Amino acid sequence: MSSPMDLSASYPPELSPEQKQHLVSTVKDWCIHHGLAVRPPPAFVQGAADPQGVLATNAPVTLFPSLFPRSCYESAVSVQKTYNELYASISGNIDWLGEIIEDLVDVDDFVAGLWKVHLAVKSEGYVQPLSLGLFRSDYMVHKPQSSLEEAQLKQVEFNTIAASFGGLSCLVSALHTSLLSSPTGEPIVYPSHPALKGNLPPVNTAVPALAGGLAAAHKAYGPSKSTPNALPLCILFVVQAGERNLFDQMELATCLTQSHNIPVFRITSPEILELTSIPESNPSRPIIYTPPYSPSTQFEATTIYLRALYGPQDYPDEASWKARTHLERSAAIKCPTVLSQLSGCKKVQQILATEVGGPEMDYLTRFLPNTEPTKIKQIRATFAPQYDLSVGGRGRELALNPETAANHVLKPQREGGGNNVYRDSIPAFLQSLPEKDWKGWILMELIQPPPAKNVALRSDGQVLSGDVVGELGMYGAALWKENGELLHNEQGGWLMRTKAKDSDEGGVAAGFSSLDSILLF
Ligand code: ADP
Ligand code: MG
Repeated sequence: MSSPMDLSASYPPELSPEQKQHLVSTVKDWCIHHGLAVRPPPAFVQGAADPQGVLATNAPVTLFPSLFPRSCYESAVSVQKTYNELYASISGNIDWLGEIIEDLVDVDDFVAGLWKVHLAVKSEGYVQPLSLGLFRSDYMVHKPQSSLEEAQLKQVEFNTIAASFGGLSCLVSALHTSLLSSPTGEPIVYPSHPALKGNLPPVNTAVPALAGGLAAAHKAYGPSKSTPNALPLCILFVVQAGERNLFDQMELATCLTQSHNIPVFRITSPEILELTSIPESNPSRPIIYTPPYSPSTQFEATTIYLRALYGPQDYPDEASWKARTHLERSAAIKCPTVLSQLSGCKKVQQILATEVGGPEMDYLTRFLPNTEPTKIKQIRATFAPQYDLSVGGRGRELALNPETAANHVLKPQREGGGNNVYRDSIPAFLQSLPEKDWKGWILMELIQPPPAKNVALRSDGQVLSGDVVGELGMYGAALWKENGELLHNEQGGWLMRTKAKDSDEGGVAAGFSSLDSILLF
């Protein structure tokens, strides 16, 4: 029996040219056959080559599942429901959250815009007390090379809006499972390796868990609020115009229609004001969707699932802010509300990770009053050191000294990848900003994942092999009342993304990483 270290040091096994050719062509075809696909990136297929937008290609995927320490996977599963509860509680603690956000509004226009939406709806009065969160907590394994300690699970970030890839992630698990399966117990498309023998990825329930959250919200909404005649109910997905990752979203929509019998419609964020309305005469503020291709059949949206509006790029003009306010003031259950989106700010994560006072006087205990201390300890163990950049503080010292900056990442209040500043670039970057803006950024110690290798098939057909870093996302679904009381709280499914070791950023959609699955060891 080989030790875990030997297992990962020799993984994945070397492919012969014939094996590689067969594996690539099998994966390529499997992806299109099962919808593990994206619309092609413009760098691969230019508009002129596909003027009608009919083409799709495989999502970037790894040829091998990655090895992942079982203990870390189990920790991520076991803390997810508590994490759901924590963020539900934070978005219900408006005074605490508001104090943090109000400190950001003068340095961050985007956060300021969101806060303004909340204040506008608050002054009119919210009509929907329920919030839905489809969360994803992202982690890396921390195992510095010099350290003999066990691998530790460390959180990269907690996503409260538009957490993507639940749909495609289930398909990658299915892809790797099919490649590993064989009548003899020894996979035949892969070279022999002990890690691959009789081993399959853990069951991935991301699609039923995320769709189950949306269905729970739909049900909790109750009957139509439209007058004088009730309208049929639906769930509305708000997506970006030109979304290339639509097949991922469609996995959730298909599950909602097929398993829950709930109609789902997709609209793009620029279409919100055109295709939805709130009757002024109805104080309950139901939001009505009129399909442009069938204007006589109107639907009332119970739930609005945002896969757009998470960053400044989706708010090009005043109308976009008006559209967000329009959604927020409606009776539909929002996934997420503005407050829940704001609770996912990097600043909130930094504050949670910064211990205040003794162990009995920290925010985790405050927001999770009924949680066992061992669970709180488990959550706290997932935090990597994080700092603000206040005058005279440790964060400022670490960020400005090139030697210590080299072990850190600097993050603004943004989502979706491509916004961070890494390592040696931090001191000069900070010095290029007016000092009064520094409070919009947080400093985080770099997590150091153990060495690993894999082979990826990119969307343009390139096959890349080399040193990689993996990031595990754990999905959660929660529905809660204004006071944070949970009506639905589920952990469900996971996502593995694998990127080249020399790339700092991690997004698949942003073009940095590939979808992967895991084998536990
Ligand atoms: P975003 O909201 O843009 O996704 P993240 O916090 O997830 O921001 O950072 C983007 C990427 O940067 C991550 O996917 C990961 O690859 C890398 N990263 C972020 N924080 C750390 C960290 N503490 N250690 C190592 N890598 C990190
Ligand atoms: Mg991220």
